[in-house]
Amino acid sequence: MFPAGTADDFCHNMGIGRDRAAALKVLLTDFSRPMDLIKYDNEYAAVTLGVGVDAEIAYRTLSHKRIRIPAYVAVGLRIVFKERMRNSSRLLRIESDNNVYDGRFLIAVFGNAPLYGRYVWWMPDALVDDGRIDMSALRPQSPVRAWYLLMRCFNRDFRSNKILRDQSERFTVYLQEESYVQVDGEVYKYGAGETFELSVAPKALKVRVPENPEYSVWSD
Ligand SMILES: [Mg+2]
Repeated sequence: MFPAGTADDFCHNMGIGRDRAAALKVLLTDFSRPMDLIKYDNEYAAVTLGVGVDAEIAYRTLSHKRIRIPAYVAVGLRIVFKERMRNSSRLLRIESDNNVYDGRFLIAVFGNAPLYGRYVWWMPDALVDDGRIDMSALRPQSPVRAWYLLMRCFNRDFRSNKILRDQSERFTVYLQEESYVQVDGEVYKYGAGETFELSVAPKALKVRVPENPEYSVWSD
């Protein structure tokens, strides 16, 4: 995989980062591994699918194309502190194999790998080839607490019981009101009443990755 996206979550999770020369070196080796994909409806996500304020931030950021990352931060701060974050939470119903979660969420992310938004260890226990999808979700929080939690997640070893976590072979997400959804960084707006069925396509994609990454997202 070659780093070319806005946040390059795929490359960061694989230990390639944003260095194109390093990425090219990886491409030229013949070491590859099979990773799971997340199937939703009739499409696939490689790393994450997320509902909530982060997708809303990304959606608004698209109108500031020239300065992407600063705009991301600026719009994020605006949403968090100025527009009052409680307006950005969404009413969802989430069903995993074993649990049901009803109510409002600031963010609900479903993924395959730990790093989210480039630097945030949002799903620290997620593995790309374990046949399961990880969920990390946040109920509405005060802006200060949400910001604090986000900052703590820059540390890979951070775990918080404020973050709802689950692992499941499938999730069903019912959007009970209009919501912003991002799929590997592409943002879409969905209407109330839409449903996502997420399941795992085990080891469906072969990827050329570093043989000895600093942090491994693989189960062996
Ligand atoms: Mg997994």
